Amino acid sequence: MKLVPLAAPDAAPPQLAGTVMRARSGFYTVHTDDDGTVECQLRGRIKQVRSGTDLVVIGDRVHLTARPDGSGTIEQVEPRRSQFSRRQPGPRGSWKEDVMVANLDQVLVVFACADPMPHLRMLDRFLVAAEHNEVEAAVVANKVDLVGMAAAREIFSGYEMIGYPVLYVSAREGIGVEGFADRLAGRISVVTGPSGVGKSTLLNAIQPGLRIETAEVSESLHKGKHTTTSAELHPLVAGGGAVADTPGLRELGLWQIPDEALAWCFPEMREHLGGCGFNDCRHLGEPRCAIRAAVASGGVSEARYESYRRLLLNED
Ligand code: GDP
Ligand code: ZN
Repeated sequence: MKLVPLAAPDAAPPQLAGTVMRARSGFYTVHTDDDGTVECQLRGRIKQVRSGTDLVVIGDRVHLTARPDGSGTIEQVEPRRSQFSRRQPGPRGSWKEDVMVANLDQVLVVFACADPMPHLRMLDRFLVAAEHNEVEAAVVANKVDLVGMAAAREIFSGYEMIGYPVLYVSAREGIGVEGFADRLAGRISVVTGPSGVGKSTLLNAIQPGLRIETAEVSESLHKGKHTTTSAELHPLVAGGGAVADTPGLRELGLWQIPDEALAWCFPEMREHLGGCGFNDCRHLGEPRCAIRAAVASGGVSEARYESYRRLLLNED
């Protein structure tokens, strides 16, 4: 984006553009486009213009004036391309939107082919959370060295059939790591998945020293601590872009998907929605259910349908 020179002569401090990498109690760490870091506060005017939504969050593109001591003031926030948010209950049944990452391009869900054994129902939960936020998702199948490519494809190819890109990689053997790096380059990504699948190893393979914070990913939505949402973006040196800290399923807002919105979060079910005999069909055994018919004819897999059913009924 081209910056328009400020109208005011001489006195105007230099204007820079950049991305907010960290946001904590009124202080914002901005990675500028010329690769600098500026610790900023908000110009008071912005607080009035953008009230009602989170003013500035990580991922936001901002324009700032910098002082020689490395501090600065955020003067402008660009409109967001996308945002990844969850809704918090507010007073009298209202909702407050809680934006966690602005301009998020994708969610990469990492699972291992073995050790730990892939728990595909949990993979479905991550994908559903991404769909609900309308953020592009891809699967990263790590540790292919443990089972071989053929067996890895057997586990994950169902996701390719639904339309999710699947990257088969081995952080240990360096297989597919370049493709993984390419996928991250120039974009803002969330890299998530259960612990032990190799997220840190994979990120370190593309950028030594890259440290991301990991929220506890509980298998159950009802257990597990509520972790902080104030994540951080970590810049990628080669190719640009950034990786956010790893959110858990709670942080991804999975628990708050309304029943009637759930089937839509399974892309292969979408084309059948509206075909059921009842408008408010929950696809649990009602007569003339188009989703159940699709399961019977193989258009929707039994396993994915079971993930839907369990999420709907709050079963683990
Ligand atoms: P995280 O919890 O998802 O960040 O997982 P880690 O990166 O800590 O990795 C967990 C374990 O898996 C470590 O012992 C790694 O050495 C191992 N690991 C990571 N990637 C691979 C891989 O591609 N193949 C094999 N065999 N082991 C791996
Ligand atoms: Zn139905």
